[in-house]
Amino acid sequence: MSAFVFPPAPQPAVAVRGTSELFPARRVYCVGRNYAAHAVEMGHDPDREPPFFFMKTPDALLPDGADFPYPPATADVHHEIEMVVALGGGGRDVAEADALGLVFGYAVGIDFTRRDLQAEAKRLARPWEVGKAFDHAAPCGAIARASEIGHPAKGAVTLDVNGERRQTGDLDQLIWTVPEMIAYLSRLFELRPGDLIFSGTPSGVGPVVRGDRLEGRVEGVGTLTLRVA
Ligand code: MN
Repeated sequence: MSAFVFPPAPQPAVAVRGTSELFPARRVYCVGRNYAAHAVEMGHDPDREPPFFFMKTPDALLPDGADFPYPPATADVHHEIEMVVALGGGGRDVAEADALGLVFGYAVGIDFTRRDLQAEAKRLARPWEVGKAFDHAAPCGAIARASEIGHPAKGAVTLDVNGERRQTGDLDQLIWTVPEMIAYLSRLFELRPGDLIFSGTPSGVGPVVRGDRLEGRVEGVGTLTLRVA
């Protein structure tokens, strides 16, 4: 057994609601353009095209109640409220009928985006990491166990900034449902326990500034609050 040349970074983890236990995070997958109204506001066709995915790094997870430090190299950081799916099982080529059996629970997350850098990446046909995978870009509230809340397929998804409603949608508007996105993703990657999937954002995305207080809510799942610092 070889020793590490320096101490390894701590295991990224997400709180599990109602317990002192932690969910050890492995990968953070994100689904792009999964609500028709958001696809339209970003200038795309709302038709059902195959889903596409990008990733954030698990060390970018930020807990409920934390300060989100306004990131460098941008003047246009956008909020994207999303339901997060937390996997307690894994596999390849998962059938849709088996997909919910892999789900440990659900949480409320924000897919923070440096929109100016993402727009430049799109324009130049470059990867999206600088726009999506920056430090602290993945706030995620406590995970509610599916064994307690079930598998929500309907329920309001909202984000308030300083008490004003900015984003409104419903889980029943997801273009690709949770079983469909798990099945599709499992044909591209081997899924493992600890994987998180940010399921896409409804319309109403927009910029945040320092001092803003954000409160996200997914009906039947929970809430997430943070302050932009
Ligand atoms: Mn998103």
